[in-house]
Amino acid sequence: MSKVEAKDKVKPAPPEASSLYAEHRKVYPKAVAGTVRRAKWLILCLCLGLYYLVPWLRWDRGPGAPDQAVLVDMHNARLYFFFIEIWPQEVYYLTGLLILGAIGLFMATSLFGRVWCGFTCPQTVWTDLFMLVERWIQGDRNARMKLDQQPMSAGKFAKKAATHAVWLLIAAATGGAWVMYFQDAPTLVREMFTGQSSTGTYFFFGLFTATTYVFAGWAREQLCIYMCPWPRFQAAMLDENSLVVAYRDWRGEPRGKAKAAGIGDCVDCAACVNVCPTGVDIREGIQMACIGCGLCIDACDDIMGRLDRPKGLIGFETWTNLDASTKAAAPLPPGPERQQAGMAARRVPRFIRARTLVYLAVLATVGGVMLGSYVMRTTLTLAVIRERAPLFVRLSDGGVRNAYVLKLANKLRDEAQYAVLLEGPRGLSITVQDAPKDAQGHPLIGSRADGITQWRALVTAAPGLHLDESVGVHFRLLDAEGHVVTSTGSVFLGPKP
Ligand code: SF4
Ligand code: SF4
Repeated sequence: MSKVEAKDKVKPAPPEASSLYAEHRKVYPKAVAGTVRRAKWLILCLCLGLYYLVPWLRWDRGPGAPDQAVLVDMHNARLYFFFIEIWPQEVYYLTGLLILGAIGLFMATSLFGRVWCGFTCPQTVWTDLFMLVERWIQGDRNARMKLDQQPMSAGKFAKKAATHAVWLLIAAATGGAWVMYFQDAPTLVREMFTGQSSTGTYFFFGLFTATTYVFAGWAREQLCIYMCPWPRFQAAMLDENSLVVAYRDWRGEPRGKAKAAGIGDCVDCAACVNVCPTGVDIREGIQMACIGCGLCIDACDDIMGRLDRPKGLIGFETWTNLDASTKAAAPLPPGPERQQAGMAARRVPRFIRARTLVYLAVLATVGGVMLGSYVMRTTLTLAVIRERAPLFVRLSDGGVRNAYVLKLANKLRDEAQYAVLLEGPRGLSITVQDAPKDAQGHPLIGSRADGITQWRALVTAAPGLHLDESVGVHFRLLDAEGHVVTSTGSVFLGPKP
């Protein structure tokens, strides 16, 4: 075999390569007015208002406790939400909240499609705000396109610089609000401006400022289309009865000029494409890049209104209704009769179905369990930890001793004192190091307000007492009236009998 033949055999010619890289095409969404747009402004104001203002809400919890209504106090390991206070041992409430959030999102998607993406997702909300700023400073779609094509000039530089400056201000407010959820807001602002905050605070402030600026200012629809995992698996929650933004092609096609004969209602004006924040043409069918924001509905309704045609060529629709309308309209030529036949075939969407009932049942169960456990939550807990080294000590008089750590968690704002009662085989006695005794000889242990107090207890078996190698014991705490307030079990270990 010649050298050339051998080389050809080892390295066959590669098949014609197709590129997986698509060049970024900048989207210039046009301003639009209408019902959906108004709803989106309202939701935007609500979401942003809540996000920026909640850290400033105050809630009186008494002396010594933080008065910020919503606070994740990392230093003292507490989460405050108005009258609710979560301790680290109760982190299962957060797990429950995450489950509720996830199931709620599944249910909303199953009912209304990508309503989360289109209306309330932070990426959508902040991008909408950034686009508003861009529009105010640089003008609407055509003006922005023209500006981008122009060579750099003083005017262009001023407009671009002003846009980025306002974006950075919004991003800094967003990063600042984020860190306020972790520290007292007024104190934090003062410390940040005087350079007294911790490095960690400045780091997270910088991180959230940078991500807001990059995601909402630069990445925009790229984040939804290429980075977010949610569109990839949300299809599993959709079915033929979910409401999605859809183009009613049975009514719109064949598209053409408004005055042409024998065409549908779509006049191919591209208004729906021009307002789309992700650059999608909804007439090509339901696509992953469509975030379900509904702005194309407003754009098309506006065109239909101007042409004196019924609105709703694009609208929130179910696949079931799309199929039914298509079948009913198919035999008829374009025109009012076809519109009426198609619309008459539609049915009220089925909101109650097996899938939504399952989601509802999970929501009700998890919510009920969380509520029940919170209502029955104890304000005092006792954890008993047996010392393991050594397992037991044989005393010089023949007795046997075990040592325990009593951890008393008091979730109330008042200090309290309790008598410790040991329940177990007769002949066992308890002492607690550094603790006084009450009139009955029970050790008295105190618990500090809103905190954990530790005590070391010694349980002793009298000499000559014959016990099993391991016997159960109970530590009960009695209040001043002699009522048992909490109790925890453990074991007492000794030598083999
Ligand atoms: S806005 Fe309506 S009429 Fe215009 S292209 Fe889109 S679907 Fe057709
Ligand atoms: S196609 Fe319509 S609903 Fe989908 S993202 Fe674009 S404007 Fe929003």
